[in-house]
Amino acid sequence: MGEQPQPAREPAVEAELGQDRPHSARMYDYYLGGKTNYAVDREAARAVIRLFPAIETAARANRAYMHRAVRYLAQRGVRQFIDVGTGIPTAPNLHEVVQAVRPDASVVYVDNDPIVLVYADELLDGTPEGTTRYVEADATRPDEVLAAVEGTGAIDFDQPVALSLHALLHFVPDDKDPYGIVGRLLGRLAPGSCLSLSHCTGDFDPEAWAAIVDTYRQRGTPAQVRTRAEVLRFFDGLRLADPGLVVAHRWRPEPGSGPGPVTDKQVSLYAGVARKP
Ligand code: SAH
Repeated sequence: MGEQPQPAREPAVEAELGQDRPHSARMYDYYLGGKTNYAVDREAARAVIRLFPAIETAARANRAYMHRAVRYLAQRGVRQFIDVGTGIPTAPNLHEVVQAVRPDASVVYVDNDPIVLVYADELLDGTPEGTTRYVEADATRPDEVLAAVEGTGAIDFDQPVALSLHALLHFVPDDKDPYGIVGRLLGRLAPGSCLSLSHCTGDFDPEAWAAIVDTYRQRGTPAQVRTRAEVLRFFDGLRLADPGLVVAHRWRPEPGSGPGPVTDKQVSLYAGVARKP
């Protein structure tokens, strides 16, 4: 066995990382000004930027929302976090935000893109008192996500957990049963658990967002934007925290957080936090 020739590493890695088509994680990295993206991703991202130049602002507003939402949850006593659709590390990452408030916080990251795994080291660099883990799983198979998270041993399912689905569900079209997926994940969590999500919408610029969705789909990434009412449905049975489901920059804004003065149309992303009774 040991004498068999090893396959050349680079091409194998390239194939595994899927450089044959753009990936949402790497396009998002490009919008945020990151360097973890390939020519195919940049071509696709530039096509989106031509349709909607504010996409980079929207990405930054989403990231800033994530920071505020998880800090809010940590400040209100949540100690465990499951973050599905984590993305390529971008400082500060979720664990850095929550462990700054609660050094003993446990964070399990989940993504299905192998590129995220390559950079997972940066996601695992937590406090000595805290726990950070990364697992690869597909959000459209919630039982596998839950099994993978359980397998880390980092989450006590008898205690409240914050589930974050930030900029994920617009990559889960209705034919993949996104509401069922969210219900399945939340169903496993203890009372007092919370959901934080952000989700792109065409409500403020329907034509541009229809074209953006086409751009993703034509290049192999399923996508679907949703109206406010459709996003609100993800919170059925939960109690939304103030100010409810709003455009991301309006969620508990903090001076100095986010991309500065922006419009609803530029951000085009609903966000909210809710608690499971
Ligand atoms: N949550 C981060 C990154 C959002 S980009 C943030 O808000 O800043 C969307 C991420 O979702 C990408 O990393 C992509 O790989 C991941 N993703 C898309 N579909 C997925 C699926 N079915 N299962 C798991 N992750 C998925």
